[in-house]
Amino acid sequence: MTDPTSAALVLFSGGQDSTVCLAWALARFARVETIGFDYGQRHRVELQQRPVIRSALAALDPVWASRLGPDHVLPLDGLAAISETSLTRDMAYAVTAAGLPNTFVPGRNLLFLTYAAALAYRRGIPTLVGGMCETDYSGYPDCRNDTLQTLGKALSLGLDKPVEIATPLMWIDKAGTWALAADLGGDALIRLIVDDTHTCYTGNRSTRHPWGWGCGTCPACLLRAKGWDAWQSART
Ligand code: ZN
Repeated sequence: MTDPTSAALVLFSGGQDSTVCLAWALARFARVETIGFDYGQRHRVELQQRPVIRSALAALDPVWASRLGPDHVLPLDGLAAISETSLTRDMAYAVTAAGLPNTFVPGRNLLFLTYAAALAYRRGIPTLVGGMCETDYSGYPDCRNDTLQTLGKALSLGLDKPVEIATPLMWIDKAGTWALAADLGGDALIRLIVDDTHTCYTGNRSTRHPWGWGCGTCPACLLRAKGWDAWQSART
């Protein structure tokens, strides 16, 4: 039974992972709100897809519709000012000397979660939900479980209120993310993810693959396609 007082704030970007996290939260919490960040992303597609996905999720299940609360979009102009990455500037994707993708914005998830915790405090929400994952670890140290659980402790101390950071994708791979989506919402949720979520780094929404829209060659598309293929193989 769902605790009628339970509530979660989901970090919701409009990508595949955060959409699965939103469905996961809607299946578990009585009240679910979403937060997104406008930090000058080079491609606006993800932000544009967010309301489309929220409406589509609510249409899938009347219980989910009754639980889905307001969306919050926070501008984070400072992030673009301090980052020189292919997400915010007109640079090609590359791997830096430190072995990190140049899409890496140092400590980005720490900033997002801290803003989310402050908003959640004002909204009376004790749980933050994020799609961070160690399994498809791309060298992002702010996606590590240790980082996030330690941040949860720091936020609980700093806000003088318990803050839980839930990361349902932490220990599963991309094939596991598709499988989790199928468990949560069956074929209808899979279709929603394929059609409405956006992952491609180049912002391509003109080419439709079995796994969704994208250029098919950037690292984000390759990871998504590889996960889809592995999930398809495991099903048969
Ligand atoms: Zn792509």
